[in-house]
Amino acid sequence: MSEKKRLVIVGGGAAGFFSAINAAQLANNLEVIILEKTHKLLSKVRISGGGRCNVTHQCFDNKLLAANYPRGNKELLSCFHQFNAADTIEWFSQHKIKLKAESDGRMFPDTDSSETIINCFLNEANKSGITIKTGVALTGYSQTEDGQFILHLSDKTTLHATFLLIASGGHPAASAYSWISNVSNHTILNPTPSLFTFNIPNSPFKGLEGVAVEVTLTLPGYNRTEKGPLLITHWGLSGPVVLRMSAWAAEWLGKKNYLTEVSINFLQGLNHAKALEIFTENKNTYAKLSLATNKFSTNIPNRLWERLLECANIDKQLQYAQLSKKQINTLVNLLADFRVAMNGKTTFKEEFVTCGGVHLAEINMKTMESKKIYNLFFAGEVINVDGITGGFNFQAAWSTAMIAARNIASRCNNS
Ligand SMILES: Cc1cc2nc3c(=O)[nH]c(=O)nc-3n(C[C@H](O)[C@H](O)[C@H](O)COP(=O)(O)OP(=O)(O)OC[C@H]3O[C@@H](n4cnc5c(N)ncnc54)[C@H](O)[C@@H]3O)c2cc1C
Repeated sequence: MSEKKRLVIVGGGAAGFFSAINAAQLANNLEVIILEKTHKLLSKVRISGGGRCNVTHQCFDNKLLAANYPRGNKELLSCFHQFNAADTIEWFSQHKIKLKAESDGRMFPDTDSSETIINCFLNEANKSGITIKTGVALTGYSQTEDGQFILHLSDKTTLHATFLLIASGGHPAASAYSWISNVSNHTILNPTPSLFTFNIPNSPFKGLEGVAVEVTLTLPGYNRTEKGPLLITHWGLSGPVVLRMSAWAAEWLGKKNYLTEVSINFLQGLNHAKALEIFTENKNTYAKLSLATNKFSTNIPNRLWERLLECANIDKQLQYAQLSKKQINTLVNLLADFRVAMNGKTTFKEEFVTCGGVHLAEINMKTMESKKIYNLFFAGEVINVDGITGGFNFQAAWSTAMIAARNIASRCNNS
């Protein structure tokens, strides 16, 4: 029998546990150690999805799944060919956890508790003989001539390893990655927060908190359009459309220090000419009705409609018949391109991910091995991959962790 190999995994989070369990179960003669710098294991899993853990998304087309990742969409496609949302559901089912889908596609354990996932991982780790060291951080490493890793730990001890897997998660501060770049020469792309809501300090929507409306959102100067529900909050703007835009434009907004204009289109996909036509028709059809009754779109709640009229300087008591051509033009222009000034961001339900991290061009995404250092692997949010909300971030963690685990196990078994 060949000599026992050792895999050390840095990070006791989602990717760290998933790779540890699968590598230990797939390899014949592998000792697996997880190092976690805090005293808490799986802490993000515990608080994820409001304590319910949105494990994955009910999306079985790999291309569509990959389209939900502002960073890593092309690279993750090859990962999803190896381990995708269906495989996640199957893995959890084999471990006696049923995942249920909500109407928007988000999938949760049927217990609606993240503890279900945590207990499963802790039990599997225990059954597989995985050693877990908490309160110990990896601070750096070197390699012997025969390629063994010598790991330098925060408690001043060292640990030898055949394989090293970095699953240390995301962090918005570049300094959190310096130990990786210092020792491995891997490029770290500027870590920046993703998934946040927009602060609008002088919001024209004050007093309308809680109002939701379907809109099309753009950021003038940034080439992307997002459609979906917008939610007016005490701080400014939130809702799926804002969160998605914050993810796609995370780097751009970061560079602008979160100071920019936001353009909201309330026209529901109608073009300018069609909107003008509707108002002109309404002039006749609802001649005696006051503008306070919104006959333009049932989608715009009344309180918001009245505020939009106010912003257009149009008296809501005016009758449709009295609307001038100029007023119609002003109103349609406003509904097509309502500008508000963003100044700052707020974390959404404490949930955020990091855009940036280890450069994907330096990782073989078919194996998750470093292209620079033999037997060094990466998984999870530490790499430059992040998804929008909906279970996509965990899916990336499971996929990359499983691929790394399979390749480590196969190399271990074949050597
Ligand atoms: C509040 C919140 C809710 C979320 N909800 C969801 C959700 O419902 N669905 C979803 O898909 N995504 C969600 N996310 C995102 C998701 O949690 C992350 O994408 C995912 O946890 C990433 O897994 P990871 O293992 O790569 O990193 P992490 O879970 O962050 O784990 C990394 C671990 O490594 C440890 N570590 C770091 N450096 C070192 C070191 N040098 N030595 C030793 N240990 C180290 C850290 O302490 C940490 O425990 C949420 C995020 C937050 C913050």
